[in-house]
Amino acid sequence: MVVAVLGTGIMGAPMARNLRAAGHDVRVWNRTREKAERLAGDGIAVAAAPGEAVRGADVVVTMLADAAAVHGLLVDGGVLDALRDDGAVLCQMSTIGIAGMEDVAHECATRAVPLVDAPVLGTKQPAEQGQLIVLAAGPDDALERCAPVFAAVGSRTIRLGEAGTATRLKLVLNHWLLALVHSLAETIDLAEAIDVDPRTFLETISGGPLGPAYADLKGGPMIERRFEPASFPLALAGKDADLVLEAAERHDHALGVLPVVRERVARAIERGHGDDDLAALFCG
Ligand code: NAP
Repeated sequence: MVVAVLGTGIMGAPMARNLRAAGHDVRVWNRTREKAERLAGDGIAVAAAPGEAVRGADVVVTMLADAAAVHGLLVDGGVLDALRDDGAVLCQMSTIGIAGMEDVAHECATRAVPLVDAPVLGTKQPAEQGQLIVLAAGPDDALERCAPVFAAVGSRTIRLGEAGTATRLKLVLNHWLLALVHSLAETIDLAEAIDVDPRTFLETISGGPLGPAYADLKGGPMIERRFEPASFPLALAGKDADLVLEAAERHDHALGVLPVVRERVARAIERGHGDDDLAALFCG
């Protein structure tokens, strides 16, 4: 299959590599071209423009920072116009929230471009290992055409309903993740404040029902104040917190923890940790 990947950041680059390793003809484009160039040695074609990357593609994957970047590329950048009546499926895998997905769905519908809403669960290492969990929603035939892409980048695909349902599940998962990391930071703070070694806390919960693997993963870096390199940049976590808050507001649902988490993330970003890993939420 010919697969175009637009966006070769922390997630898009290893996804493109795994698509190539699975035998697909992969073309990539990235706003900052040098990042995409790193993939050239793996037999991946680096396009100078997005239109060049998507020409003749069976599936076009977007893995960009946020809804504005996706709209900018697909609509203002002319990608959807290039795909009009072309038969290629747009497989939108960035986390862009409900309004962002509605916008993409509208723009695709007006150009008869089949759309799959497919955000992912998992971070840098699972992306490198092809172990992402893909949340996939859209028409059956378009989902079938994306199946080889999902097999290459993920270990599991959860099929949902129409486009938008995967994005909503992703927001629920992000609520869980952000609240968990916030709780971990608060608990390490408390331990340090009352003279309990936070490592003893982590060791005590490790492997038991109170100890998610994520506590092991992010707890050590918090204790050591070690926030680079980023697996999931804190600035994107702030974007995700905003998307969860927007979704709850749309449904008149009050959230207790997320507003506090959002403030903590904002403080950490103000202190210069936006490009650091999510664990730097600790510094807020
Ligand atoms: P990243 O490393 O920061 O990459 C972001 C990508 O978006 C880069 O290719 C960047 O291009 C591009 N971009 C940003 N603004 C743009 C614009 N205005 N126009 C064109 N391109 C633009 O982020 P990532 O971790 O790969 O995340 C990508 C998406 O996956 C996000 O929606 C994120 O929330 C989601 N996600 C991330 C993780 C994770 O753990 N990292 C997990 C699940 C989902 P440049 O290189 O030119 O800046």
